[in-house]
Amino acid sequence: MADRKLLRELTEAFGPSGFEGEPANIMIRELGKAGEVTRDGLGSVVSRLAGGSDGPRIMVSSHMDEVGFMVRSVTGDGYIKFLPIGGWWPQVLLGQRVLVRTRQGDFPGVIGSKPPHELTEEERKQLPDIDRMFIDVGCCEGFSVTEKLGVRPGDPIVPVSPYVEMADNLMMAKAWDDRGGCGIVIEAARALAGRPHPNAAFFVGSVQEEVGLRGARTAAEVVRPDVALALDVSLCYEHPDRARKDLPERLGNGAAILVHDSTMIPNTRLRDFVIDLAEKNGIRYHLTTVRGGYDTGVIHTHRSGVPSLAIGWPTRYIHAHTGIVSAADYDATVKLLTAVIENLDEAVSKSLRSF
Ligand SMILES: [Zn+2]
Repeated sequence: MADRKLLRELTEAFGPSGFEGEPANIMIRELGKAGEVTRDGLGSVVSRLAGGSDGPRIMVSSHMDEVGFMVRSVTGDGYIKFLPIGGWWPQVLLGQRVLVRTRQGDFPGVIGSKPPHELTEEERKQLPDIDRMFIDVGCCEGFSVTEKLGVRPGDPIVPVSPYVEMADNLMMAKAWDDRGGCGIVIEAARALAGRPHPNAAFFVGSVQEEVGLRGARTAAEVVRPDVALALDVSLCYEHPDRARKDLPERLGNGAAILVHDSTMIPNTRLRDFVIDLAEKNGIRYHLTTVRGGYDTGVIHTHRSGVPSLAIGWPTRYIHAHTGIVSAADYDATVKLLTAVIENLDEAVSKSLRSF
């Protein structure tokens, strides 16, 4: 069953791309209980699960960074101009709370907007533009946010959005992408602890996925995998204009097996091996495609090529302040990952290379 306390801690951790210290500490603490942990030169956490064999080497990657922002400049009146870190849709930003971390501490703010009463007809029709937005951390005339709060260019900013339990076994929070994947990896490591598995399993918390899969590239160099999996969010295409029954990509429909994304076509034998395992073990799953990429996008082209597959956990409203996920889907995905590590032996690994 989903460890809600762990999920609260993971999603509420402060960690936009390049500033993954807090989620990394959680990964090190938890994965350290199940094996040996190291970090690479970019900061990715690489752990080797105890109790396996020499090979095949399996890399399971979940990224620790979240989409956020960075201070670009401070205006003379103390407003913060900011850059997006990762892909943001400007429509979801206005009026949202954020937390700015400076060398003097954490300071709450809001992405300010003009009140509708003050907008001209022309302005009302315009789409919001991030370059014209600003963050108000609270200052009146004569108060210097650079001196009093220590705000300076390069300071990281994240959404404010506490973890909340919802009806129907759902959970709402920021940063499910990809702290949910981090949780799945941690819980699979717990399930496998002390049990034999016919491979060398490396569980990786990668950095800087949201800005171009950068951490997975260097972590792959550390692991040198024979087989790779990415554990990350997949998308729910649910909205009021589409009947739920027509959509496989909906909350409650189990683990998502990615048959295509913008960065990779998976190894078909690995895909079928995972589908067969789900069916044999009665684990709910569905097949899906996503426009976007996963860590496997760079791992599968590492060195001479690595058979790879992305496994997703369905999420509503990613890359926004608040996403919604299902605890049942989470549990199904933990079970599926655990079954893969328990069954992916040398013979299976070899079979992935007969094309
Ligand atoms: Zn992601």
